[in-house]
Amino acid sequence: MSVAAATSSISSVPIYSADWILPVEGEAIADGAIAVDGGRIAAVGPRDELGEGERFDGAAILPGFVNAHSHLEYAVYGGFGDGHPFDEWLAVHIERKARVGIEEMTAIARLGAAECLASGITTVGDASFSGAAAAACDEVGLRGIVYIEVFGPGTAQIHERFEAHRDRVAGSLSDRVRIGISPHTVYSASLELWEAAVGLGLPVMTHFSESELEVEWIRTGRGPLESVRPHSIRELAQHGLLADRIVAAHCVHVDAGEIALLAEHDVAVAHCPRSNALLGCGIAPLRELLDAGIRVGLGTDSPASTPSFDMFEELRTCVMAARARDRRPDAISARSALELATLGSARALGLDAEIGSLAPGKRADLTVVSLAGSSHLPWEDPVGAVVFGGSPSRVALTVVDGTERYRRGTTQWHELIEEARNARAELLTADPASAPAARAVP
Ligand SMILES: [Zn+2]
Repeated sequence: MSVAAATSSISSVPIYSADWILPVEGEAIADGAIAVDGGRIAAVGPRDELGEGERFDGAAILPGFVNAHSHLEYAVYGGFGDGHPFDEWLAVHIERKARVGIEEMTAIARLGAAECLASGITTVGDASFSGAAAAACDEVGLRGIVYIEVFGPGTAQIHERFEAHRDRVAGSLSDRVRIGISPHTVYSASLELWEAAVGLGLPVMTHFSESELEVEWIRTGRGPLESVRPHSIRELAQHGLLADRIVAAHCVHVDAGEIALLAEHDVAVAHCPRSNALLGCGIAPLRELLDAGIRVGLGTDSPASTPSFDMFEELRTCVMAARARDRRPDAISARSALELATLGSARALGLDAEIGSLAPGKRADLTVVSLAGSSHLPWEDPVGAVVFGGSPSRVALTVVDGTERYRRGTTQWHELIEEARNARAELLTADPASAPAARAVP
């Protein structure tokens, strides 16, 4: 749709304008505006042509961030097991998770969804233990694919976990909140379970090569991680189980052959640099993954392994880690990082026809970031200003499907925060032996 064609028909639709529009696809527009109609973007162009609408001074309007890998249900797990080796950290996580039931998991996921909106995130690819993330996304207004996790030997969990949790949250599913499945890893879900999960034809999320411990275990059969007979990315390929609807989080310790397999089968990668750094797992070979033509998105993972759902911190860590790893200042640009966190993640999740950039016809998912009062103004490079100077406290507005879901200074989540805090208290103090069996989530 041309700007001129759109102008005559947008007089009554919401318009937002700012110093800059950063469409991600296409060049930045100085003194720009965006018109929203019926949940979709009607037009993007100069303010002079579209009108001012609601004006944000000292701000940029960009596509809502797409968080390619999260666990909303761990929003209050911050600090658990910090500083411990990967296996011990995981053991603390699993033991504490067993202390709460579905109500607490939903309360925690609601806070996670709210914190995403406040960070300018409009879509998540969420690996969900209980499916509670689907209810949370639905209620709070976030877009998401919620991948219900399955574990263990055999295929029993397709019925016992996936179908049970999917059926429980069926009322929360919509065009905005969709369901997927997540065979957790190659060492915690058997080949048979992988076969059954991939065979469902749904979007798939998993974790590949996150830690050296798991790589060593897969290679030698020895190590502290115990669950099912470990298999490998190569074995998945041999069994025809790599596909373009799979998103693999982490991929820190993938070798050249594995990168080639991911590229050959068009498996997408969710790059999680803060999580990988905080757990001491390493720095993923971002440049190699991109150069191989792999679809790469950016993910915050969860506060269980990063301190927050802060996508701005993730952007900066992405840039700094890639440059430090490769010892090259051009390993990744601010512009490329912003693309990873928006259109790149949308491509990874298979949603790029609908979201990820500001283009007429796409869903109206956007965020307004104010740099007013910061050292980044007057503007030189608006993308650099947002990437290096942005923060959740600078997010003025987040819109999903044309609906305002977060407005700084106005949106209040008092009850939601209180319930999540109570759930964290349960995680810290409950005696698992005394937990009513009825509360346990299988
Ligand atoms: Zn994860």
